[in-house]
Amino acid sequence: MYNIVAASFGEIFLKGKNRGSFEHKLISQIRFALKDFKGITIYKDLGKVFVETKNEDDMDDIIEKLRKVFGIVVISPSVKTETSPEVIIEKSIELFRYLKEKQNIKTFKIKTKRSDKNFPIKSMDFSAEVGGRILAAFNDVTVDVHNPDVEIYIDIKKSCYISSEKIKTVGGMPIGSCGRALLLLSGGIDSPVAGYMIAKRGVEINALYFHTYPFTSERANEKVKQLKERLEEYCGKIKLFSINIIEIHKAIKAFCREEETTILARRFMMRIAEKIAKENKMEMLITGESLGQVAGQTMKSMTVIENAIDMPILKPLVGMDKTEIMNSAKEIGTFETSILPYDDCCSVFAPTHPLINPKLDSILKSESNLNVEELVEAAYSTLEIL
Ligand code: ATP
Ligand code: MG
Repeated sequence: MYNIVAASFGEIFLKGKNRGSFEHKLISQIRFALKDFKGITIYKDLGKVFVETKNEDDMDDIIEKLRKVFGIVVISPSVKTETSPEVIIEKSIELFRYLKEKQNIKTFKIKTKRSDKNFPIKSMDFSAEVGGRILAAFNDVTVDVHNPDVEIYIDIKKSCYISSEKIKTVGGMPIGSCGRALLLLSGGIDSPVAGYMIAKRGVEINALYFHTYPFTSERANEKVKQLKERLEEYCGKIKLFSINIIEIHKAIKAFCREEETTILARRFMMRIAEKIAKENKMEMLITGESLGQVAGQTMKSMTVIENAIDMPILKPLVGMDKTEIMNSAKEIGTFETSILPYDDCCSVFAPTHPLINPKLDSILKSESNLNVEELVEAAYSTLEIL
């Protein structure tokens, strides 16, 4: 029955000067989300975005994809018609019949919105007219304007769109409407959720993965790629950078105290991440840290780690419980991949007794045994885009 999906977006962020560019971004996100479908046309018609398909069978899958695009607030499967009153009435009756076969409908309501004022009949009058014709066609239904079993919504724009269902989406703001940031993406449960949360605020994200090949396997790489792909369903195209930090770990092992390993390695990760972010015009970093979750995530550790760089680090999970984070991971669809057993670098080199309350002075002293700049440059030279 349906041949088109209407997508409405949050008017609040789409007002004013930025409207055109937000809409443009949203349309490119939609195009990316639907890249695997054939016979699709995406276009704007007076304030909404429409996705038309030649294959009605794809409709459910298209809706499932659109539900995840940040910035869309509501989607309605619709029937598209020309704007002739008689055609609209016939199509409305046809849609009503289709709905009535699927569910028990005793009462209904018609609502018309005329965004194109060239349409010759006023909205209220036209609703009454369509309602009358439905009453004439079906003798077991009545109109109920307060609590109808079904509401037929007729939206008259350059074309006309008839629908009866509003499907809620994940919401958020259009990607790209709020800057760019670099997500430190490990293979764990937390960082994908952190990326999701920040991207939902309209931030375009790219991701950086540190590995210690050959101590970590190719499969760990594959796992991170998979997580990136899950996130792309919401966030659009994500560039995934990878860096090998094996030499950094070796240097730390050779010249520093074992319990400082995690903190020192983290400080290196931040420096490299900051460098990549700056070179690719990203303004902030994102991590999946959550206060108190593990030894490395105390206030003191966070302070010492952040001290290594100037760039702000967003930590959207900071106040969440592990179970809350796990539930989010399940909802967004990253959990199953995150719990695959392949190690990322940190578990391989993790100290037996990591420092819980590191002191900046002694960390700086340990670092003075290392040639920090050279190690960062050497690691940076392993940069790959996965
Ligand atoms: P996650 O589940 O995201 O791995 P975690 O609970 O294991 O988090 P940590 O290992 O302490 O926590 O890492 C904290 C954060 O540091 C991660 O959420 C991630 O943002 C970043 N991080 C840790 N290891 C890596 C890595 N190998 N590559 C990229 N980022 C990493
Ligand atoms: Mg981890």
